[in-house]
Amino acid sequence: MREIKRKCQGCYKIQDRSLMIKITKLSNDLLKINPLSHELGRSIYVCKNAECVRNLIKKNKIKTVLKCKNLEEISRIEEELKKMLP
Ligand SMILES: [Zn+2]
Repeated sequence: MREIKRKCQGCYKIQDRSLMIKITKLSNDLLKINPLSHELGRSIYVCKNAECVRNLIKKNKIKTVLKCKNLEEISRIEEELKKMLP
C-alpha cells in the first residue's frame, strides 16, 4: 500500500500520515481532532510532538489555515492538542 504523506503546519515537513494529528473544520465552524472518515471538512495536519503543536498554536494556524472564526472552539481544540502530547 502506498504511504500517505501530509505536510505539518508546525515544521512544514512532509511526513507519514500515521505520525500526525489531523484537525478538521466541520460544518458550523466546529473543530475535530482525528475525525471519523465520514466527517469531512478542510483539514490541517501536525506532527505528534510538542514543538510542532506549540508552533501550530503560536502561529495561529487553526484560525489562518483552517479559516475557523470560532475563537472559543480554537482554544478548546488547542487545549485538547496539548493533552495528547507525552
Ligand atoms: Zn512537524
